[in-house]
Amino acid sequence: MLNTNLIRKKRDGGVLDSDEWQFLINSYCTGDVTDAQMAAMAMAICINGLTPDEISCLTREMLASGTRLPRVSDRPRVDKHSTGGLGDKVSLILAPLIACVGCDVPMISGRGLGRTGGTLDKLEAIEGYRASMSIDESSKILKEVGAFIIGADEQIAPADRRLYALRDVTATVESVGLITASILSKKLAASLDALVMDVKVGSGGFMHTREDAKELAESLVRVGGQSGLPTHAILSDMDQPLGVEASAAIGNAIEVNEAIEVMAQSDPSDGENPLRDLTVALSASAVVQAGVFENLKTAEEQLREKLASGHVMERFEQMIRAQGGRLSGPIPLEQRRDYFAETDGYVAKIDCPAIGDAIIAAGGGRRSGGETLNHRVGIQTHVRIGDLVEKGQPIFTIFDDSDSIASSVQKSPEPWVTMADSPVPANTLILETIPPNTADNPDMT
Ligand code: URA
Repeated sequence: MLNTNLIRKKRDGGVLDSDEWQFLINSYCTGDVTDAQMAAMAMAICINGLTPDEISCLTREMLASGTRLPRVSDRPRVDKHSTGGLGDKVSLILAPLIACVGCDVPMISGRGLGRTGGTLDKLEAIEGYRASMSIDESSKILKEVGAFIIGADEQIAPADRRLYALRDVTATVESVGLITASILSKKLAASLDALVMDVKVGSGGFMHTREDAKELAESLVRVGGQSGLPTHAILSDMDQPLGVEASAAIGNAIEVNEAIEVMAQSDPSDGENPLRDLTVALSASAVVQAGVFENLKTAEEQLREKLASGHVMERFEQMIRAQGGRLSGPIPLEQRRDYFAETDGYVAKIDCPAIGDAIIAAGGGRRSGGETLNHRVGIQTHVRIGDLVEKGQPIFTIFDDSDSIASSVQKSPEPWVTMADSPVPANTLILETIPPNTADNPDMT
């Protein structure tokens, strides 16, 4: 088999068979397929797409390039993965929450690149927190605590690690087939019993339209099921940052603080709280899938009770300590400055791309891999789409010792919060759920 023939075949719209995918990924791992050849292949895939069978083959080969995490207990093993969005700190609450109802949550997470922050970057705002550890060490934490949140090391789907870095610098991230194989190869390596995907829809995430998000969600559900991993997907709103009722935090330390606020709340039924509600919905979906509760209603009730009991906060602290972190109250932030509504009106739009870019410019996110972050910069939005706002009411707050975020606000061609004179409907938090595909393919397990 010749590398160039495979690239030519995909370039001309052909379909690679299972042996060809195996050859390609094996050769990429040994270095016989070069980064230049793989980048050309990734571009051909972006342009011509992959068939469902090809996505399954690619997923299987990327998984086979590395090792799988061992099972450490008889507890059901579940996880959630999000396509990422502004202010999405669900994982910080969900991992200890699900551990509290008797599951293991071996969460392999990523760093932020682009506007959507990474869970590991948020956790590294906690002094001493270690995201990188050996499989033996993480297995010990899982056995004792029921949850860990770590980065993928060299042994987990190494083909994806290399390919993802290449895609990132060759404008080849945006392919449903490549994203599906990338996410699922890592999740399959975690030896899970059930996975729930949070596919974000809107300007603050990856997939801007519902159609694109649904296509990705269906692909993840299909390939997960075919690979022996029951996968459920929820499409959720990302046209505004995700947060609690009165505010949504965007940044690293500030998001950890907000997650802690939710875990420390004693009345979980009190008021609207999109962060808590989405976390509970995703968690319920995962634990019902794993057979812990019979139905979503019971699962949600039990999970809300756990949140109110304070046990989730204790489990979070236990997990952080096990990973070397030292938590003592809210993490300090940079200097605060509030912005106020200049007119009365209804909130029609929140400029998520501008807010995400301002965080990156201030050092809270990365322009390229390897940059060191300032974990203490952040933004808090205080309004949601559809809210009626009065002139003088605080609409957002920035936390930044330099003038970087203030200057982004000033230079922005559009205001970060756009008002309308007439009422604007509020966005729905959970847009759709896509149930697991039961068409198992035992060959893939
Ligand atoms: N997250 C991943 O792990 N891989 C992708 O390709 C995109 C998002």
